[in-house]
Amino acid sequence: MRVRTLAVGLLVGSLALTACGKQGGPSQLGSAPSQAPATGVTVDGSPTFDKIKARGRVVIGVKQDQPYLGQLNPTTHKYEGFDIEIAKLVAAKLGYGEDKIDYKPIPSQSREQAIQNGDVDFYVGTYTINDKRKQQVSFAGPYYMAGQDLLVRKDDTSITGPTSLKGKKVCSVTGSTPIQRVRDQQLTEPNNIVEFQGYQQCVDQLLSKQVDVVTTDDAILKGYAAQSPDQLKVVGKPFSQEPYGVGLAHDDKALRTKIDDVLQQAEQDGTWKQIYDATLGKSGSPAPTPPQIDRY
Ligand code: GLU
Repeated sequence: MRVRTLAVGLLVGSLALTACGKQGGPSQLGSAPSQAPATGVTVDGSPTFDKIKARGRVVIGVKQDQPYLGQLNPTTHKYEGFDIEIAKLVAAKLGYGEDKIDYKPIPSQSREQAIQNGDVDFYVGTYTINDKRKQQVSFAGPYYMAGQDLLVRKDDTSITGPTSLKGKKVCSVTGSTPIQRVRDQQLTEPNNIVEFQGYQQCVDQLLSKQVDVVTTDDAILKGYAAQSPDQLKVVGKPFSQEPYGVGLAHDDKALRTKIDDVLQQAEQDGTWKQIYDATLGKSGSPAPTPPQIDRY
């Protein structure tokens, strides 16, 4: 119970800080709910929001092993990172404080299915918006632009970009856009592709020299490099565009519009940058200009 109270306090505290930082006084951010859920927020015509309201809690799909993005802190047992803060912000604007959120870790491979099944209300976890996925789910955003990059051991000078992967053991995650690109562009031989459910497993294999390189978004790789700066480095030449969206049910245009509004406001009022600096920014790169929301 104490933990719960503290969590609510932190949320409200950080929102209040945002409000003061921007305008020097109270703002609409300050009116985020502290105790009661769903304080008059409506999202007309959203089947997902109706479900959330009936349940009195919001279920958000996330990653749990991606430092600075979506990670379950083993000490505090709390989720933290940039994606988690985006998730919390959206939930707060829907009327649900941190104590009303249930996080559900879902690996890359299972995201579309989890959304389609209604196992999660929405998903925030380095989720690239693309046309193939748009046939099954919808995306609000993008709220961040990543790019595919390479993570190697610090003493490796042989891997300098996507064209130097032939003959190397390349690790990535099942169902991700980066592993698909390795296959489509034949960046290495099929029997040199190693795949797991999560990126931490690839990083462990890289550290124990069972693979030569981990490939996925630079945002993810920078977090792992920052955790093992003496052993790992990011090549740093991104070779794709990975716009991150909030995944949600395909037929729920009302919720998509609502989340787009939340993200757009956060990008305009400084909240986005504040969130970035407190999370992803800690893995070494200054805040970029956030991408344009795509209201397709
Ligand atoms: N952004 C890429 C994707 O959505 C890679 C990161 C991930 O697997 O979540 O597939």
